[in-house]
Amino acid sequence: MDQSTTPSPGRRLQGRTLVLARALSALLTAVLDLLLPQRCAGCEGPHGPLCAACRTLLDRGPRPCAPRRGCPPTWAAGGHAGRERRVLLAYKEHGDGRLAAALGERLARTVRASGRAGHDVLLVPVPGRWGTAPGRGRVARLARECARYLGPAGTAGTAPVLRYRRPAARQVGLDRASRLDNRAGVFLAWPRSHAGHAGPVDPAGRPVVIVDDVLTTGATLAEAARALRAEGARVVGAVVVAERGRPTTTSGIGVTPRRRFYKRP
Ligand SMILES: [Zn+2]
Repeated sequence: MDQSTTPSPGRRLQGRTLVLARALSALLTAVLDLLLPQRCAGCEGPHGPLCAACRTLLDRGPRPCAPRRGCPPTWAAGGHAGRERRVLLAYKEHGDGRLAAALGERLARTVRASGRAGHDVLLVPVPGRWGTAPGRGRVARLARECARYLGPAGTAGTAPVLRYRRPAARQVGLDRASRLDNRAGVFLAWPRSHAGHAGPVDPAGRPVVIVDDVLTTGATLAEAARALRAEGARVVGAVVVAERGRPTTTSGIGVTPRRRFYKRP
């Protein structure tokens, strides 16, 4: 008998206990959500998960981001301060999934405003942390919500084809040079065509809009665009929830002020 594939009775019991504990935890969370008032993620007011005032604030028009070297034309749903930042952090860092729909809707409006929406456009999310299953990260969920709001006239759907080629540290806390080093060559676009892998839609020859949560130096978007273009994708743009720290000419990010960067598609 193959001992490596037959768990012992003790281990089976341990596995069942773990499954039961997770189910009870999920049930408890659902009950508490029903009983306790839901605070707004933006202002902590009583009308959560997002009150009307915060929703209106977040509904301000999307905007083109300042260009970053190597990045496709990128649009942001908003900035990275105050309530906008708190809402994004509640989703991203504290796992408040109730905000996914609202943020996805903002991204859908951003895609439309950028002029990049179209029935043949694929939305490619930036992958989650190293080790996250493909299509399972929080950005992938935002991309799915975004696709739902765009509908078939605005997108052909999501294609979570980007993978990590090697482990990479998180970008938070790194300076620009370290961010670029940390991301250089780290992604690989892995469509269906590779080794018979039953993966997502092949982006070769397709118009692609990359989806991410925060744009800072642009190192992640530039690397994602490089990996997708290497597979033959036509990267026509990118959308993010928040643009953080608009670069200046002295920051070394390669910006020329007042230059008209975004062309109508
Ligand atoms: Zn609020």
